[in-house]
Amino acid sequence: MTISDARPVLHPVRECDAGAFFRFFTLCHATGAPNILITLSAKIACPLSPLFCILLSTGRPCGAPLFPPPTTNGIAVQKESDLRVELIDICRKLAAKGLIAATDGNVSCRVGEDRLLITPSGTAKGDLRAVDLLLADLDGQVVAGATRPSSEIRMHLLAYRMRPDVRAVVHAHPPMLTAFTLAGVPFTAEALPEVWLTIGRTPTAPYATPSTDEVPDSIAGLVQDHQAILLERHGSLTFGNNLREAYLRLEKLEHAAHTLFFARLLAGRPASPLPGPALEKLARAFGRKN
Ligand SMILES: [Zn+2]
Repeated sequence: MTISDARPVLHPVRECDAGAFFRFFTLCHATGAPNILITLSAKIACPLSPLFCILLSTGRPCGAPLFPPPTTNGIAVQKESDLRVELIDICRKLAAKGLIAATDGNVSCRVGEDRLLITPSGTAKGDLRAVDLLLADLDGQVVAGATRPSSEIRMHLLAYRMRPDVRAVVHAHPPMLTAFTLAGVPFTAEALPEVWLTIGRTPTAPYATPSTDEVPDSIAGLVQDHQAILLERHGSLTFGNNLREAYLRLEKLEHAAHTLFFARLLAGRPASPLPGPALEKLARAFGRKN
């Protein structure tokens, strides 16, 4: 199909600022929306250059942009589209693996240094689309999106404010890990060398009333030094340098919780942690701080 065969539809670009324009542009790529043709035919004023945006209902895959996207603090705005797709993939995994149910849980990631993408409140995460995600600032104010984020955004914001290295946060309700907190059984990461090496000690934060400031208060003293925190009677919180890492930490923890549970059934007692010298040897072998 040639361009002349297609039926162009002019997309109304209401906000003629570069950020809004490129968010729209990258979102079309992320969601597989109809092709975008950008020409230098001046029909819509844009601060970058006179750009004319036409949606072509061809069904062809989107081509590469005809010009490089702008950057924010050196991070390409284009990246937001990839993050939207990846975040949706994580949401689907959470639902498929039973780590959340119904409208449970929330997932977020940094976009640049002062923005984050986050799942909307009260939605089944497995059904979300990339376009449903909200763009918020680090005060939790939505800057792009039609709905509101979960009140549990407070936990996410606390982690991003305290830890520049945290670029993604996953909050879930994993059944076995949550059962550990209900039973008052500590999660013994030190019993499993790979869990201890890759995630480290995983404390349980005391019970806090959901959707209140009690929740961030309950984890405030634990965020700095841990990659994962269990929330008593509630669920889990895992951090990562990226979405995949935050998700995989959760998956690994829940799997380990099953292992610890079976060990307890078999032995009739909790699994014992590796002794101090064994942990020190592991730390030395893998260059990890104890
Ligand atoms: Zn929750």
